Amino acid sequence: MNCPRCQGTMVTDYFLDMEDSGDVWMSGWRCLSCGEVVDPLILKHRQAQQAQYELVGAISKNPANKTHAPVAILSRKP
Ligand SMILES: [Zn+2]
Repeated sequence: MNCPRCQGTMVTDYFLDMEDSGDVWMSGWRCLSCGEVVDPLILKHRQAQQAQYELVGAISKNPANKTHAPVAILSRKP
C-alpha cells in the first residue's frame, strides 16, 4: 500500500484504539516517509467520502440534471 499523501511506503502498525470498540489494539498502516496513519475506519470513511464526491460530480456533469438552475439571490432595496 502506498501513502495517500506522499505515495511513500506504508507498513502495518498497531495503534491503541481510543474509541473503546472492544479491541485495545487495532492494526493500520503508517507511512515510513511522512508518518501518515491510515486505519481501517479512516480508510472506510475516505472511501465513502470519495464515492460521495464522485456521485456529486457525476450528477452535476450530467446534462439531464441541468433542470435545477442555480438559485438567484434576490435582495430588496429598502
Ligand atoms: Zn506519506
